[in-house]
This record gives sequence, C-alpha cells and structure tokens, in this order.
Amino acid sequence: MLEYAEVPTPQPGAGQVLVRLQAAALNRLDIFVRVGWPGIKLAYPHIPGADGAGEIASVGSGVTRLKAGDRVVINSNLSCGECGYCLAGQDNRCERWELLGETRNGTYAEYVVIPAVNAYPMPDGYDVGAAAAAGLVFHTAWHSLISRANLRPGESVLVVGASGGVNTAAIQIARYAGATVYVVGSSREKLKLAEALGADYLIDRSQEENWSKTVYQMTNRRGVDVVVDNVGATFPLSFRAARKGGRILTVGNTAGAKVEIDNRFIFGKHLSLIGSTMGTHSDFAAVMRLVFAGALKPVLDRVYPLSQAPQAQERLEAGEQMGKIVLETTN
Ligand code: ZN
Repeated sequence: MLEYAEVPTPQPGAGQVLVRLQAAALNRLDIFVRVGWPGIKLAYPHIPGADGAGEIASVGSGVTRLKAGDRVVINSNLSCGECGYCLAGQDNRCERWELLGETRNGTYAEYVVIPAVNAYPMPDGYDVGAAAAAGLVFHTAWHSLISRANLRPGESVLVVGASGGVNTAAIQIARYAGATVYVVGSSREKLKLAEALGADYLIDRSQEENWSKTVYQMTNRRGVDVVVDNVGATFPLSFRAARKGGRILTVGNTAGAKVEIDNRFIFGKHLSLIGSTMGTHSDFAAVMRLVFAGALKPVLDRVYPLSQAPQAQERLEAGEQMGKIVLETTN
C-alpha cells in the first residue's frame, strides 16, 4: 500500500545529483510495482514514480555540467554507460538497465537522487507538471515510432486507444512525422481528445466492435502501414487492420501479458511485430526538444498534492483519466 511519510533526504554520490522535485507524473507501471510481481525484490520503504521535474538541489563529486538551481526533467531510464549496448547508443537495452521508481527510489517524493546524465535541462518558463508528464510516455512513443519503426511522411498509423499517456503521445508524434492517423477509442469523449491532438480518422469501438473491418474499409481495403497496439488482447484485430508488410508496434500490454496469436496473419501478410520498451538518451533529447518547443504537448488530466498519491493511483487504476495524472511534490 501507499503511505505518505517522512524519510531522510538522500545524498548524491559521485556522478549523481539531488533533484528537488516540483512535479511527478503517474504511470501504469507504478501500480504494477505497488502490486508486485513474482521475483521483484524491493527494499522498503520503497518510493515509486519514474517521471519527475524540478531543480537541482546539490551535485555529487565529479558533476560539472549541472549546478544547484538548474531546472531539469528526469529521464527515468538508468543505464551503466559501459556495456556493449550502452557503447552502441542502445542504452535502453543496457545489461544493467533499471528504471527509476521500479527498482530504485523514485519521484513520489520531495527529493530524488539520480545519475547526472539522467537530468535533462528544462528551459525557464516551461511548466514542471507538463515536463514530468511528458517524460516517460513521449520518450517511449518516440523510440517505438521513430527509432524502431522508422515512420515516414505519408504513411498511415492506427493507434489502438485514444486517451492513455503513450497513445496521446503516439498520435502527436505520428502527426509530427507527417503520417495520417487513425484512432480507435472506447468513447466519443476520448475520441474528441484524439481529434484535438490531430487524429484524422476516429473509430468508436463502442459502436463498431469489429473495428479492423472499419479500418480496412476506410483505407480502401488496403490496411494501415503501422499499428500502435499497447493493449495486447487486441492483436488479432490489429493484425487484420495492418496492410500487407505492415508493422505492429507494442510497448506494453494494458489488457494482460498473454495473447493468443494466429500466426497465419504474421507470415501470410508479411507483418513485422516490433517490441520495445522506453528509449535511449538520444531519443529523450530528441523528443524533449520538441516538447519544450511546443511541437508536442503533454495532455494533463488532474493534479494532486503528493499526500494524495493513493487517490491519484485509484483514478489511474479505474481508467478514468484523460491524459497524465500529475503529483505536485512541492510542500
Ligand atoms: Zn549498459
């Protein structure tokens, strides 16, 4: 369970910084961590939270790029910087990869210690809540659509789900990349949000249960180039909605981990199933530049004070949110 309590302020070691957080953002992962899974071992009390933004409070030895008072947004992907993957610029595949808030104390706090390389400078005047909300979801969606799927202008993208954090980021990134965007959503209200973010074609699955057929018809029986499916249980429909040679992207499984796959679609339609999780340092820099420039806009749901983190998580668990739920961590 989540409990609001006083704990000692951590101190930064060599190469680390202490961030005085002003905002944190919730991710579904925070709930998975709280509930736990077989094999996860945490030291309690454990502080959840991957996303955060604030200012540098102090720096450890050897840190020269940052100083107290600098505004930063946190890249929650922790990598060793030394393994083969890290040296190849694929730090999200690091052999010693960890995520802030998952195995290390995270951002549902007033202070957090992180490696200096994970503190990314944030321009003056940019909203801390929006920066925290952008972090993990825009990073993840960028890596998937741009770095992994190599999305090109003129392609078509179907996003399965209209209102979640990664999906609202994916809709915007696909538009930014020059793609035509189709969105399947569960309600008119959620689809309105998708439309406001730039979606070109909206499909209400409460009205059209077999939405793959609708997509097929909308694309003149061709199907879409790319499907963003972070639900998992919807793979059969996504496989149908993809064109021959299409790419199916997945960065998660909100409807459960195990899915039955009809392999005939994969080989018969020459489909590529592309999985990834999080992103690299260079992805983070690329996407946050666009966020700070206003080209990509985090969608904010509600802001709660840090002490109401349990209520904030309840809202996320109930799936009532439209966009990101933020915690104000300044007391
Ligand atoms: Zn590494």
